[in-house]
Amino acid sequence: MNQNTFINATTIENLLTRHINSSPQKIDDILAKALELKGLDIEDAATLITISDKDQLEKIFQTALKIKDEIYGNRLVLFAPLYVSNHCANNCLYCGFRHDNKDMKRICLNIDEVKDETRIILEEGHKRILMLMGEHPAKCSFEYFLETIDAAYAVKDSKGSSLRRVNIEIAPLSDVQFAELSHIPIGTYTCFQETYHEETYKKMHPSGKKSHYDWRLNVMDRALKNGLHDVGIGALFGLYDYRFEVLALLQHAKHLDETYRIGPHTISVPRIESAQNAPASRIVPHPTADTDFKKIVAVLRCAVPYTGIILSTRESPTMRNELFHLGISQISAGSRTSPGGYANAMINSTVQEQFSVNDTRSTGEVIRSVIEQGFVPSFCTGCYRRGRTGQDFMELAKPGLIKAHCLPNALLTLKEYLKDYADEETRIWGENIIKKELLHIPSKNRMKKTEEYLKQVENGKRDLYF
Ligand code: SAM
Ligand code: SF4
Repeated sequence: MNQNTFINATTIENLLTRHINSSPQKIDDILAKALELKGLDIEDAATLITISDKDQLEKIFQTALKIKDEIYGNRLVLFAPLYVSNHCANNCLYCGFRHDNKDMKRICLNIDEVKDETRIILEEGHKRILMLMGEHPAKCSFEYFLETIDAAYAVKDSKGSSLRRVNIEIAPLSDVQFAELSHIPIGTYTCFQETYHEETYKKMHPSGKKSHYDWRLNVMDRALKNGLHDVGIGALFGLYDYRFEVLALLQHAKHLDETYRIGPHTISVPRIESAQNAPASRIVPHPTADTDFKKIVAVLRCAVPYTGIILSTRESPTMRNELFHLGISQISAGSRTSPGGYANAMINSTVQEQFSVNDTRSTGEVIRSVIEQGFVPSFCTGCYRRGRTGQDFMELAKPGLIKAHCLPNALLTLKEYLKDYADEETRIWGENIIKKELLHIPSKNRMKKTEEYLKQVENGKRDLYF
């Protein structure tokens, strides 16, 4: 197969027409299959994503909830984004960083500023960040970006804590650049296709390197061929018909899985938010209604049960709370979308940010709310640090195994958070949830060992994990 033929628009359009209005029996059969946790094929996903009947939608939501519970339990992994530059030579019509936005105050953080931002994020309790920048090799080069990763890892906060995992989201790299990146200790490399619909893609990306659809579409092939093991994909919902994007995301995932035996580690589901001087954020071409957005998350959870689904602070607290029950496994918290935004929260808001966020709560507030709802906030980076990535992760990703590793690690990192960063009330809520969740660790031995480790954390030991 030619690399660029794995997205087949005609197939997707035919599937969407053919599977609309499927019988209730067929839908029930598909949902029963989803509960076997082996994923769904694209035809099945086409049936689910075209459903609009309220009762049937409710059944999809219930199924997604069961799958999420079975595989991930009630853990939510937390991270914070760190933007190092808003220079950009591209012109994406939805983005505040676009080259033609002359009101944007451009900045490329120096190494000390990157360290300051990292320190603030660490002091909030985060252990995992996502580093991003616009695409402007002349102003902020790939080499500069590599230096910022080093700088971020080198920072220690007042508790002596440092970052345990840096994920990155930058414009597509070349083979040579990916080969170089493969020697740097990053977690996931993420890049959103934005839209898989080629004609829309061309309209939305009128100039700059990003205007080349194939260069972006083949980015994960280049990454995986050149030594990366952990990649994340996504689509920006609102640019084109969400049903098309969901099936295309699944075609992309299938292609990576079949070709490299490594499916995407994560799928992100950003929705367009308002951005300065960005026409496609003012008049969104295909606005995605809340119910459809919930359906997107639920169908992805049914179709690729072991793939993480990432939700950002683009969504409101209310929407986020609803989506936690439908399959989200990773969330950002306390985010700033401008370079320097953590150190200068008041100064550089709209004039330097990529888009505005809807969940403006602090990390502490998000964590408190998540715990109050019965979820376990997790700062775990265990798999990555034990080398359980790529194919190894996929093999590990069976419900029992995930529970044996991830739940204890989540509890240990939550305990650290409660000791080092939480206020008194959050600490009480958190200790209660730890006590309750300990009982859900599947093996007696692992439960005992986790209890021992928790005591060690209580007594000052840090960074214990399975
Ligand atoms: N500049 C690189 C690129 O485009 O791949 C790095 C990622 S960019 C900093 C992060 C992502 O933000 C983009 O891929 C896009 O999907 C998303 N984004 C841009 N404008 C947005 C908006 N107005 N609302 C929501 N998400 C937006
Ligand atoms: Fe630049 Fe990325 Fe924004 Fe496009 S989405 S204008 S490439 S920062």
